Order: sequence, then C-alpha cells, then structure tokens
Amino acid sequence: MTDKEQHAEPDTEPWPAGMVTSRALRGYVERGEITTVRLAVPDMQGRPKGKILSAPVFVDRMDSQAEICAYVLATDINMTPLDGFDLTSWEQGYGDLGVKADPSGIRLLPHQPGTAFVMGDAFHHDGTPVEVAPRYLLRTQLERLADFGYHVALGTEAEFVLHQGTLEEAHRTGYHGLRPAWPHNLDYALGHPPQASDFFHHLHDVLQEAGIPVEAIKTEGAAGQVELTFVYGDVMAACDAYTAFRLIVHDLAQRRGMTPNFMAAPSTGVGNGLHLHLSLWSAHGNAFTYHRSEDLPPVMERAIAGLLSAMPHLAPLYAPTVNSYKRYAPHTFAPAGYTWGFDNRGCAVRVTGVGEKAHLEVRLPGADANLYLAVAATLAAIIHGLQDHPDLPPPCVGDPYAANDAIPVPADLAEAVRRFDGNKIVLDAFGENVVRHYVRAAQAEISWHCSQVTDIEREYGFGRA
Ligand code: GLU
Ligand code: MG
Repeated sequence: MTDKEQHAEPDTEPWPAGMVTSRALRGYVERGEITTVRLAVPDMQGRPKGKILSAPVFVDRMDSQAEICAYVLATDINMTPLDGFDLTSWEQGYGDLGVKADPSGIRLLPHQPGTAFVMGDAFHHDGTPVEVAPRYLLRTQLERLADFGYHVALGTEAEFVLHQGTLEEAHRTGYHGLRPAWPHNLDYALGHPPQASDFFHHLHDVLQEAGIPVEAIKTEGAAGQVELTFVYGDVMAACDAYTAFRLIVHDLAQRRGMTPNFMAAPSTGVGNGLHLHLSLWSAHGNAFTYHRSEDLPPVMERAIAGLLSAMPHLAPLYAPTVNSYKRYAPHTFAPAGYTWGFDNRGCAVRVTGVGEKAHLEVRLPGADANLYLAVAATLAAIIHGLQDHPDLPPPCVGDPYAANDAIPVPADLAEAVRRFDGNKIVLDAFGENVVRHYVRAAQAEISWHCSQVTDIEREYGFGRA
C-alpha cells in the first residue's frame, strides 16, 4: 500500500459493515488477530484463485503484491492447461502474473478465525492490467457507461441446489444417487428440515459479518433449491461480494456434510439462475424511475432495446458451459427467447419495481456464469442501446414462451460462439484480444464434452444401438 493509496482510503465514508480498510487490516495483523490473508483473483469461471499469504508478509508488500501463474486465467473448470491462448502457453513457459490487492475489497472471514479475504487485480510484469481478467473487463464497461454520465446499482439473485453429502462423497459414488437436501419443492416455504434451517441461519449471519448484505434467503422451486438475494449496491462491490459468498457457502455447507451445486441445469427440468437486478443512476437519481408503463424514460427504453439486440451475441459471457443451455427451457422461469415485459417472469428482461425503485431484471445468466463477465456483457448491451438506438419491440404481454417473433436463446454453446465471434457490437465493446480469449475458452469446453462418452449415452444406447 503506497502512502497515496493509504491517503485515499475512504476512512470517513460509510464502509459496509464487515469490510475493512487496509489501515484497519494492518491493525488486526499487528495485534495478531489476523494471521493469514487470502489474496484472490477471480478466474474465468468466477472462482477466487490465489494463495493463502502470511498476514505480516501481505501487509508488508500490499503494493508489490503476490504472484500467480497466468494459466489461472486460461484454463477450464478442472484447471487443465489449454493451448490456443495468447495470454500464456507452454511456449511462453506459463510464467507469472502479479496480483495487486484492491483496498476496497478487503473483508474478514468470520467463519475462519484469523483470516482475511482480499480481492485483487492481475497485472503483467510491466504494470499493465491483464485485459482478459474478468474484473478488468467489467471495469472497462463501467468506464464506458460513466462516459454517458451513468453508474450502475446491482442486486444479484443467486440460485443453487443444496445436496446432502460432501463433495468427496459425491465423487466417491461417481455422482450417482445425489440427494437434494430435502426431497420436495419447498418454494417460499418457511418451515424447513432442521439441518437446512440451521444452515440458512448460520449462512445469513456469516455473510452479514463478512460484509455481504443479504436481503433474503428462500427455498426455491425444486428439491433442495435455494435462492439468496443480496442488497442492491455498487457493481464491483456486488461482484466481489458474490465471489466471496460462493467461497463461504461451499465452506459452510461442506462443514455440515452438504454440497451446493451451482450448475445452470443441475438436473433435467431444473434451472439455477443468476438474475441481475440493475438500474442506471445519474446525478439526478435513478434514471429508470417511471410512473406509467406507457411512459418509460427514453434511457430505459434504449437500455432494454440494447439488451434485446446485443445479448443474443454475448451468450458465452453469461452462459459459458455446455450445461448452461439446458437451463433455457419453456415454462421453467428461465427465458427461452430475448423478450421483455412488465413484471413478467418468463421474459429475458423483466421491468420491475415501481417509481424510484424501478429497475430491470436480466434473467439470462445461469448460476454457472462468472458474475463479472455476465455483468460486463449486460452493460455492453445497454451501452449499445444508449449509443446506437436499436428498435425497441413491443413488450411481451401474456406467455413469453409463445412469443414466436422473439430471437430464441442459442440452442447450445456452439451456436452462442458463432453469434459472438466476429460480431461488431461485441468487438467494439471488448476488443479482439478479449473476444479471441473467450472464444477459445468456449471451444475448449465444447471439445471436451464432444470427446466424452457419458453414462447417459450408455443408458440410452447400450445393447440397442
Ligand atoms: N430457476 C429459474 C431460473 O433458472 C428462476 C426462478 C425465479 O424466478 O427465481 O432462472
Ligand atoms: Mg429464484
């Protein structure tokens, strides 16, 4: 931490409860209350990656930071080094990237005494940022939006299916016979099995203490399914909080012999979404404020039009896996086409909230999305709307799954890549290097799946083919 940065710390501003300033962290470390620091960079899958640093070493070097192998930003879900990335390769020796702590991303992990969790950014040795890093991608879209005079407020809505048994047990049984933590659809139920009830209580309190303000926890519409909504706030802070939440929920569940599953389609007919509630703000307040549905502010109409016209080309950034596309099924509450409507949960973009609370709910991202990338894609689409004024189709009234004139969501990741690669809106928003990187990641995901013979294929074809 340089003197300049220390000086710039928002010591006097309200700091979300649970978050700490770097000066406060130094204090904790000097008093021996914090002994280790997890300095994290979100990887391509949105998982925090890094090292557990000895706390005194971390505070000594807060500015010169730590190093991670660059392949963390060029790998698949199983951490397989993949060829075809410009960022790093065997030819380049899989060298290091620097990681610089973000002073606004420091929190304590209350369930792991003595531990702080710090979000960081990846840098090349010459000090330039890594342009394919998810946090950097998001920052560039926020800067573009700031040029239009807007900043964004974001609230996330996270779904997952909670299973009985640890990850190790699931692995040992070949992922067969997985048991949801309760056997029925307990949507909106307020009575839960005691183990789940205790878990929700504990999870809520730990998140709250870790500076991850929970709005609500509810059981969702499938066996074992849970939804958490987080309080609306600054975009980068919301993405960092969600990343820390993923770490915490896994950790707490495992300690109780349970496992959360964030796959977009955890089983046939079940979808885990990661909906984004967002609004644009200017010096005059919420730019989406409206009082009559026939009188939406032009900026809101442009944002919706941008989303409908650009999101079809951005799917690899919010639906990054082969599994992502199995979630988009009719009458499941996951969208099947690029539609919009007023308080219509079958639409891709739902206008919701009234008056000054008006906002858009973008229902396209699945729970397997990297939140930084999903938000960056969403903002790129909104910017396209503000800049290029595409036509706004009429809102969907009635059943959006019957809206035959809407652009359907891509059938699979291969179609999503075809719409993404070379698209002008995408290139203008992210640049060639970023597009090439994420096309390569999607191709690697497709090739892996194409090369595997699965249990389900055997079940379908064994003895009958
Ligand atoms: N599970 C649904 C999805 O995959 C969303 C349900 C809801 O409206 O919260 O998007
Ligand atoms: Mg839900």
